[in-house]
Amino acid sequence: MAQVSKNARTSSSTQRFYCPCGGEVKMKTVFENGKVKNMAECEKCKRVERKPSDFN
Ligand SMILES: [Zn+2]
Repeated sequence: MAQVSKNARTSSSTQRFYCPCGGEVKMKTVFENGKVKNMAECEKCKRVERKPSDFN
């Protein structure tokens, strides 16, 4: 019995985001007061947003 999975989507961890300036947005993990915070930073213009989707 051939079962074809419909969940063929690739892992979302490989998703890439780009800043309007053309630079690639990288996720970075920041430790602040014992808490882990995820920040998105543009490699090129150093713009920082909370979420990669905020760059659009
Ligand atoms: Zn940028």
